[in-house]
Amino acid sequence: MPFAQLQAELDERAAQGLLRARRTLDTPQSPRIVVDGKPYLAFCSNDYLGLACHPQLVAALQQGAQQWGAGAGAAHLVSGHFAPHHQLEAQLAAFVGKPAALLFSTGYMANLGVVQALVGKDDTVYADKLNHASLNDAMLLSRAALKRYRHGDMEQLDQLLGKVNQGRKLIITDAVFSMDGDLAPLPELLALCERHDAWLLVDDAHGFGVLGEQGRGSLVHFKLDSPRIVYMATLGKAAGVFGAFVAAEQVVIDTLINHARSYVYTTATPPALSAALLQSLQLIKQGDDRRAHLQQLIARLREGLSDLPWPLMPSATAIQPLLVGENKMALQLSEGLRERGIWVAAIRPPTVPQDTARLRITLSASHTEVDVRQLVGALHELAC
Ligand SMILES: *Cc1c(COP(=O)(O)O)cnc(C)c1O
Repeated sequence: MPFAQLQAELDERAAQGLLRARRTLDTPQSPRIVVDGKPYLAFCSNDYLGLACHPQLVAALQQGAQQWGAGAGAAHLVSGHFAPHHQLEAQLAAFVGKPAALLFSTGYMANLGVVQALVGKDDTVYADKLNHASLNDAMLLSRAALKRYRHGDMEQLDQLLGKVNQGRKLIITDAVFSMDGDLAPLPELLALCERHDAWLLVDDAHGFGVLGEQGRGSLVHFKLDSPRIVYMATLGKAAGVFGAFVAAEQVVIDTLINHARSYVYTTATPPALSAALLQSLQLIKQGDDRRAHLQQLIARLREGLSDLPWPLMPSATAIQPLLVGENKMALQLSEGLRERGIWVAAIRPPTVPQDTARLRITLSASHTEVDVRQLVGALHELAC
């Protein structure tokens, strides 16, 4: 058994400050958590609207379980597709302004399924270099030719698209980059799609619920509406529950139902989750106050951290990374905050490029201005 070899690889990772380990929360997701027995003020969840513990969601989940049981018991194409799934799909499609939608178990699986179903070995996938790992894995699994373009570099993408004259072309991008917080230039990407007859897969894991009127997401934010766009969003971040969906033209959705392997060959999510998500969608629609408060907190944080030795990355979203650079320094800062009762995750390679380790600060509508001031104060202490 190659245990010694596995251990040596882990030891090597540890020596580089790259070993990953989990911490156990003893309380529900919120800005105030107890981790391994100690209380912290936390800035690392993706629960941007503070809905994960909302009493109406918890009640809808309980009621959903009463009515529909704990598990779906089968895949969607067998006998696991329930009325709440179906109703949620219809409401999600209408909410984001697409003809049809399909639920997936997770965003990771949705990306794998969409890319693999839409392109194959005679086709080409174009991907931003800072895309989420699930999009990177999806393009490898699809067996299409792969072209990665520099982050946001539309000129390079234009050239790469122009070099290929066969097969389908699919551009895949995060809408809000998960480790950077900046937005993809979606209008420019769509223009390139039109010019080169390509499709665009938009991963809106961090925009859905937060951006656009009523939180309808990045497409609404940019006022984009095109049959070329396949939209994916997750339901475990701002929506506060679990899962993901793809919204697109009906023919695309029918193709996914037939060909997306991560849809076909897996058990449906518990219908009670869809019951909770129907409630979440109502809270998202009514969430203007939450979104306005979140914007306020983002502005306060950026003002407060503008004079630190480490730059805040250019982001207008709830993801506000502080670029530290060196792995060990990022860990040290995260550790220093922890000693002060504050929890912020240090993000290191390979999740982000070499020499760009960072503190990934995320804000939630459930934070207060006092919380933000506490974080700003602690970072100033550590900078001295
Ligand atoms: C979180 C995330 C995913 C994966 O979604 P899950 O539902 O957590 O599997 C996909 N893409 C991006 C950009 C993400 O941030």
